[in-house]
Amino acid sequence: METIARYGSPGIRERWLKPLLEGEIRSAFAMTEPEVASSDATNIATRIERDGDHYVINGHKWWISGAADPRCKVFITMGKSDPEAPKHSQQSMIVVPSDTPGIRIVRPLNVFGYDDAPHGHVEMYFENVRVPASNMLLGEGRGFEIARAASARDASTTACA
Ligand SMILES: Cc1cc2nc3c(=O)[nH]c(=O)nc-3n(C[C@H](O)[C@H](O)[C@H](O)COP(=O)(O)OP(=O)(O)OC[C@H]3O[C@@H](n4cnc5c(N)ncnc54)[C@H](O)[C@@H]3O)c2cc1C
Repeated sequence: METIARYGSPGIRERWLKPLLEGEIRSAFAMTEPEVASSDATNIATRIERDGDHYVINGHKWWISGAADPRCKVFITMGKSDPEAPKHSQQSMIVVPSDTPGIRIVRPLNVFGYDDAPHGHVEMYFENVRVPASNMLLGEGRGFEIARAASARDASTTACA
């Protein structure tokens, strides 16, 4: 919610933030990938490619908390929009409605033997998922910047608590 509040366009905020704040829907954050060491977000390999007025997303994610919850209606997905850009400007974050064709949830993962039922942390694919270009948060190549700002806020909140 905070990411959409801070970095979403007025249209994105109207469409997604209001129902999130009112508790009508939930969201999930899709960053981590099985093929790369995801603790360093510059490694994230999911592709977000511009195609006319849309972006097309292809990638493999896991540990995505809450993605299987039927109330989860929107993903903030992180991927690479320009693998040739400077290291910290390759990534973008984009808003993806959960009913977009091409989203495939595979399974819940186990934590210490438990699957955190009923909704868990899932492995999933984005396969030729098309969303309007206006769903990009903050701007192409600014995903790492958003992630760093979010983790800095988390750290200061923890320090205060
Ligand atoms: C319960 C749970 C819920 C989660 N929910 C979400 C979610 O909602 N959305 C999401 O996107 N992700 C989620 N995650 C994933 C989590 O963010 C990642 O597991 C975390 O960022 C670490 O990435 P990784 O698993 O790829 O581990 P890796 O990056 O592969 O790290 C594995 C180990 O190697 C170490 N390591 C990595 N690189 C180096 C290096 N260069 N040198 C030395 N040591 C290194 C790390 O410190 C760590 O100990 C969740 C994870 C769990 C367990």
